[in-house]
Amino acid sequence: MLDGPSVDAHHLLPRSQGGRDTVMLHRVCHRKIHAELSEKELARQYTTLEALRAHPDIADFIRWVVRKPPEFTAVTFRAKDHVKAGKRYRDK
Ligand SMILES: [Zn+2]
Repeated sequence: MLDGPSVDAHHLLPRSQGGRDTVMLHRVCHRKIHAELSEKELARQYTTLEALRAHPDIADFIRWVVRKPPEFTAVTFRAKDHVKAGKRYRDK
């Protein structure tokens, strides 16, 4: 959602659903997406950045995270959070 050096590749359509296109997201934004949405929801309704940004909780998160210092958004992404949030879904 934010531009910067700390980014992850996110599959707009989960790879398990045959998705190939990825977008680069800040790690914290990426983590938030998978905390809020299941792989099924992502595949069904959130296959565009516009749709993701329109999600109320994600929109709130973006408004909150833009006020954080740059070090905050460089927080190390932990794969286990991704697993917890999206079962066994991984982008990499
Ligand atoms: Zn992802």
